[in-house]
Amino acid sequence: MKPISALRVSDLREIRFVLADIDDTMTVNGKLPAESYRALWDLHDAGIGVVPVTGRPAGWCDLICRQWPVCGVVGENGAFAFYLDGEHRRTVYHPAAPPPEENRERLNEIARRVYDSIPGTRPAKDQFCRLFDVAIDFREEPPLLGFDVAARVRSFFERHGACAKVSSIHVNAWFGAYDKLSMARHFLAERFGHDIGDREANRRVLFCGDSPNDEPMFAAFELSVAVANIERFLTDLSSPPAYVCARESAAGFVDLVQLLLEGRQSASRRRVGTV
Ligand SMILES: [Mg+2]
Repeated sequence: MKPISALRVSDLREIRFVLADIDDTMTVNGKLPAESYRALWDLHDAGIGVVPVTGRPAGWCDLICRQWPVCGVVGENGAFAFYLDGEHRRTVYHPAAPPPEENRERLNEIARRVYDSIPGTRPAKDQFCRLFDVAIDFREEPPLLGFDVAARVRSFFERHGACAKVSSIHVNAWFGAYDKLSMARHFLAERFGHDIGDREANRRVLFCGDSPNDEPMFAAFELSVAVANIERFLTDLSSPPAYVCARESAAGFVDLVQLLLEGRQSASRRRVGTV
């Protein structure tokens, strides 16, 4: 991993989309600080499309796509994307996401066995507004459980045939061959005709995250960045990000956005100067 200061101005000035995880990437101690929200508006005002890519539920994503300065949001670890089309909220479902009701009882049953067999695990409080997955809380609220416990929960779901990912606060589990990356790719192609399988298009997207559930994104983007709190997960990642911020969570995210916008400004100043 290189420091973000190694990002080249020639790369930054071409960026068209910033995709970013939310929890412990834009937030700190569970809050979205003013600086992070300002950074999202700064990207928006610079004409860069922001797409949060999160494990958070459909209920949150409805609010995010309506109220935040974003051009879409990928939710529940890639089951869907929401975006605003004028005054209408539209949904793009992942082609591999089965209808939510198909698996709800199966997922609930496995989750009940998790709560029975792994002490301290409990449903995430945002479960009520989830469509596709179950979220097991291990660090959003006290008592905070270790990442070793999260790994046991993940394995439990996997042994029962579900997909499971560990974020910085929850273990999310679902049925269906999708993840953050495949939905982000599908959404950018469907909504903007932007195919990240094409190398030039890929280099016009920057991703920032912090956790193992961001790993497919780290692997897919040449311009992949993590905030400094990725450190605790590095031994678990086979695809680390290309770049890392010097500071953790929201502070790192804000540093990255500032660097990106300054890089673009200095590039445009140079372009003006050469005319
Ligand atoms: Mg996160």
